[in-house]
This record gives sequence, structure tokens and C-alpha cells, in this order.
Amino acid sequence: MYIHHQRAMSKIKEDNSKRYNQYSRHLQEIFNCKVYKITIDAGFSCPNRDGTISKNGCIFCDTSGSFSQAHSNLLSIEKQLETSITRLKNRFKAEKFISYFQAFTNTYAPVEKLKVLYDSALSHPDVVGLSIGTRPDCIDDEKLDLISSYQKDYYVWIEYGLQSIHNKTLNYINRGHSFEDFVRAVELTKKRAIKTCAHVIIGLPGETKQDMLETAKVLAAMGIDGVKIHLLCVLEGTELENLYKNGDFQVLSSEKYVETVCDFLEMLPPSTTIHRIAGNGLKKLLIAPKWLDEKFKTLNMIDKELEKRNSYQGKCLTRIANTDLQSMYD
Ligand code: SF4
Repeated sequence: MYIHHQRAMSKIKEDNSKRYNQYSRHLQEIFNCKVYKITIDAGFSCPNRDGTISKNGCIFCDTSGSFSQAHSNLLSIEKQLETSITRLKNRFKAEKFISYFQAFTNTYAPVEKLKVLYDSALSHPDVVGLSIGTRPDCIDDEKLDLISSYQKDYYVWIEYGLQSIHNKTLNYINRGHSFEDFVRAVELTKKRAIKTCAHVIIGLPGETKQDMLETAKVLAAMGIDGVKIHLLCVLEGTELENLYKNGDFQVLSSEKYVETVCDFLEMLPPSTTIHRIAGNGLKKLLIAPKWLDEKFKTLNMIDKELEKRNSYQGKCLTRIANTDLQSMYD
């Protein structure tokens, strides 16, 4: 484990513009070319919206499945792939792609149906990987065996929406699952050596900075492979909008967000890939904070803050001798 962290830290250092383990760079190293994720909307629903668990959904979730920027599910998966691949090749000179099932709960169907959908998403010759976003209470052995079967030919991830390790918060935001569900899902996933990414939200109602950092600590201890960090934003038509307008909830300033993200990164092992730390939210529906649109400005602020602290991902990990990590930057 120690050697693994050291290697990861050396890689972070090689890219002197970033002091954290950027997922895009990680992909470039694995495939030796530009690899982009393509968001796919396969028309799934969510048990927290269709009445199985609740009809209201999470308090921040908009009707498109929260933070999803995927295509209309009126298009076939093949068509969605073709359209995105052409656009990303022309615009960014992307060469390979990962099909990312993003909208709603992408394991919420019988395994036979899942196989048809996942197979379709891998049908293009330039697709090298599969990433599946889902809830931790919507996974079982049968589904994981199917997902694991793709590992011999593709680079495979499962992305679990966790948001917070605190059940009090999960109840408040109406997640409809517990932290224990997440632990169980990660254990089952790790048994098959499928890579796991946890989605977390900074700025959830009622959480102190200490609460948020405890989430980082626990994810580090669980050996999670990747983390996607969202800022809690208020979208039109959500329950959170009502709380915000009633003055029951305030969004974070960009300064506070940057400070918390940097603290969060310091607690994650250098080997954990960081899938996102800035931007997102549907511009058309965004009510607050307006600065969320300024993705590159926020990324710059994070870089500058880490530099100012002379810090980096993993700095506060107690399991690694900090002096060894520090020496890589001296
Ligand atoms: S689990 Fe995801 S899709 Fe379902 S209500 Fe919550 S945020 Fe929305």
C-alpha cells in the first residue's frame, strides 16, 4: 500500500500543474491517448422517484436525474454514442471513449435488460470502457457478476451516489438509503475487483466542515478508487429551492468551497482518482450559487490554494509518513 501511494504521489508531482490525481490524466496514462467520458441516458428511472422508496426524490434532484447532462432518452444508445464521439473527436481530438451511464439509477432493471443496454453502449469500436452510475441499494450479486464480465475486455467502473457518510444527513436530504448500504455495495464490488467511485456533496444542509471531512476520512479508510466531488447547488423545481427561498439553507461561497475541497483532498490517498471537483449543474435550472458556472476559475482557485499551502492530495493521511510525501515536493 505504501509503495502504491508513493508511486501515485510521484505521478501527481510529475504533472506540476496539479497537486491531485486527476482522472483525465489517469486515463491518458492508461490508454496513452485522450480519453473522454460520454454521458448516456438509457431511460432508467429511480426507486426514490417512482414511489418504490419515495416519490419525492433527493431534495436537490431535478427531474432529469440530478446533475445529469446526458442526452434525451428518445435517442437510441448507438445514436447517442455516434453523436458524442463525432463531436468530441472534432472539438477536443479525443481518440477513445468511456460510455458513462449517468442519468438516474443505471442498475435499476432486470439483469437481462441491463445486459442489452450495456452491450449497446460498448458497440462502438472506439469505446474502451464502461462507467455505471447508480445507488448503493440498487446492486446485487447478479448485477455485479454481469458488470464484472465486461472487465476482461473493457475498463470498468461503478459510481455510487453516497453524498455523505452521515445517516442524519442522508435522512434529511431524503436519499432513501443508508451509509451501511454503501459499505455493503462497495464490499460486493471490491470482491470482483471492479473499480468504485463515490460521489460526494460538499455543503449539504446541517453539515459542518468537520462532518464533510469525516466523509473523506472514511472513504480513504475504505480504499475507494475514485471520488467525484460536487458542490451542493440549488436547481429550479427541487425541494432544496423551497428551503433556499425560505432562508433555511445557504449555499457556500467559492472561497469556502475551495478551502473545503482542498482539506478534503489532503485526506484522500494519492492513489484515489479525482473524477471531478468543479463545475456541473444544469445552467438553465441553476438558481444558486451563480459562481458554479465558472468552472475554470474554481479549478484555478483550487490549484492556487494547494500551492499556497504547499499541500497536495494525501498530505494529511496519517497512515503515510507525511515527511516522505513532503520530501517529494521539497
Ligand atoms: S438517487 Fe439520484 S436520481 Fe434518484 S432521486 Fe436521488 S439524485 Fe435523483
